[in-house]
Amino acid sequence: MGNNIPVTLTEILNHSVKLLKEKDIRDARLNTELMLCDILKCDRVNLYLNFEKPISKNEAALFREYLRRRLTLEPLQYILGKTSFYGFEFIVNKSVLIPRPETELLVEKILSDITEKKKENVSIFEIGTGSGCISIALAKMLEHENINFDIFSIDKSKEAIDTANQNFKLNNLEGKQIKFYMKDVFEINKLTRHYDYIVSNPPYIAIDEFIELDAEVKDYEPDFALTDFGNGMKFYERIFRIASDNDFSGSVYCEIGFGQRSKTEELLEEYKFSNYTFYKDYSGTDRILEVTKK
Ligand code: GLN
Repeated sequence: MGNNIPVTLTEILNHSVKLLKEKDIRDARLNTELMLCDILKCDRVNLYLNFEKPISKNEAALFREYLRRRLTLEPLQYILGKTSFYGFEFIVNKSVLIPRPETELLVEKILSDITEKKKENVSIFEIGTGSGCISIALAKMLEHENINFDIFSIDKSKEAIDTANQNFKLNNLEGKQIKFYMKDVFEINKLTRHYDYIVSNPPYIAIDEFIELDAEVKDYEPDFALTDFGNGMKFYERIFRIASDNDFSGSVYCEIGFGQRSKTEELLEEYKFSNYTFYKDYSGTDRILEVTKK
């Protein structure tokens, strides 16, 4: 922050907002407030109550470091090391995709299907769990509803599995039937046991669209969590292949990318699925695909 080191929260805030805005970083003020809250271990209300308070040297140094990282376009969630998804807290780092709000709809749709069918026991297989956000949010909600569950979640990345296990502990799920396992879905041709649901938010961005993504996403989030390095359909193809096996009689829930509906429909036809629904997200984009076998 140069020679004129700001001393109060107000000064720090103004200084930071100005620098972030110069870099065209959205939500400059909110970003600053959240970084300050993290450092001062307080909520935003408390921040406002202490605006004229001077902050310690250590706190200022830490803030400078956070701000430096944010100015290089590193996502705020990686700087803070956490984010929230479906109302629960998750540890995030560069090995995992940052959970997106659209993905909450995927969780919501599965939960309403479970409730609608008045299921008392559910088994779920998740492909590409990353931070574990989908499986963990499902587990927390099912636990709350007193519905028995067993969840098996895979990811090809060891770091992702480690992160998902940390999130499992963070969300007090120890002793519950949820297991994270390192496995590449492309090594799976059929399931060896029964599942009620297959769920996935796979890397669906085509490689030619991936290179066009914002630096904030492309330079920081794991590429293999975003793109299949092909046409964006590789994971759906594998998931449909697994689901089309006669031994699978449950439902598939997947997130799909912007504009992917018709390509997905072609693939569904190819795999002879005729019972499916697309749900739109809050911006009106087809986002969630539900496929049932019967
Ligand atoms: N399941 C995780 C999520 O939805 C990770 C998805 C991924 O890495 N493509 O955020």
